[in-house]
Amino acid sequence: MVINFGAGPSKLPEEVLSGVQKDLLNYNGIGISVMEMSHRSKDYAVINDTAQQTVRELLNIPQEYAVLFMQGGATGIFASVPMNLMPRTGTADYFVTGIWSAKAAKEASKYGKVNMVLPKADKYEMVPDKSSWKLDPNASYVYYCDNETVNGIEFPFIPETNGVPLVADMSSNILTRNFDIRKFAIIFAGAQKNIGPPGVTLVIARRDLLGKAMPTCPLILDLAVMDKDNSLHNTSPTFSIFVMGRVFEWIKSNGGVNGMEDLSRMKSSLLYEAINESNGFYSCTVKEGFRSRTNIPFRVANGNVELEKKFVEEAKAQGMIQLAGHRLVGGLRASFYNAHTIAEAKALIAFMKEFQKKYI
Ligand code: PMP
Repeated sequence: MVINFGAGPSKLPEEVLSGVQKDLLNYNGIGISVMEMSHRSKDYAVINDTAQQTVRELLNIPQEYAVLFMQGGATGIFASVPMNLMPRTGTADYFVTGIWSAKAAKEASKYGKVNMVLPKADKYEMVPDKSSWKLDPNASYVYYCDNETVNGIEFPFIPETNGVPLVADMSSNILTRNFDIRKFAIIFAGAQKNIGPPGVTLVIARRDLLGKAMPTCPLILDLAVMDKDNSLHNTSPTFSIFVMGRVFEWIKSNGGVNGMEDLSRMKSSLLYEAINESNGFYSCTVKEGFRSRTNIPFRVANGNVELEKKFVEEAKAQGMIQLAGHRLVGGLRASFYNAHTIAEAKALIAFMKEFQKKYI
């Protein structure tokens, strides 16, 4: 048995994969695979619309918001955000709490003025206190990354923007906790972590803010155009959307977002407890209160690179794979997404305890 702890593309529910396998050659008695079906066909329309409807139900999304299935990854979407929203005032506020929000801020600076809300930090370890925030009341929007996948920092609250539209990258924690969509202008998430295979990015956007994109914005990145065309402006990543729709249904029949939230809290608490109780053999530099439930970066013996290499190798020999940290930060990282079970989290912790006994 293999347990995949990779940060993305990552583990999908086994039931979903075996269901997809069953339908692979002959979907719904049509005689062909979803991959081979026209994105303009009636059969595909059902897949597209059902996936939209199911995620609307899961996240309680009203009709004032568009639900879009886009391409270009989360990177494409964070590039499209300034093109869609910045013309309002020409400036935007960015919370930079890790690698992904830093990349998004850099991208936005091509299109207008970017205001950094937080003081510059040497290391990403937390969301600094509200007293240090510099929000611009004239910003077109405020941007933040709800969960920094590489650095393991998750916002424990939704930032208050005093009416300025709020944009969130939820790529690595979407559908792992409930939130009130009405507090947001746009949220987006690359599917390849919690909700499906790579190739599609879920975007939820407040309709009244759309339709004012820069004239230079490519049509496929113009959210109003994608909304008008029901995510079918061009050939859509049909198979990825099909699998994502199946994941949405799996979440619905496994306790919905509340069920995922409980599980997520349990799995991550178990691992953080194990780290805290390891007498410093394992450590996590993210401050308590900001520790991600889905991506848990940790070090062995204060960053002993040799031991960390051994950890990855020995874990792999026991079937636990993709535990190396991101190439930019090193160390180790365990990702616990919706598809991971408590038993899988416990298996990793048991391995960590054995490893500690062996090398302490
Ligand atoms: N934002 C976050 C939080 C991510 O984790 C990632 C991917 N790891 C991205 C953006 C970029 O996603 P993509 O590769 O789909 O462009």
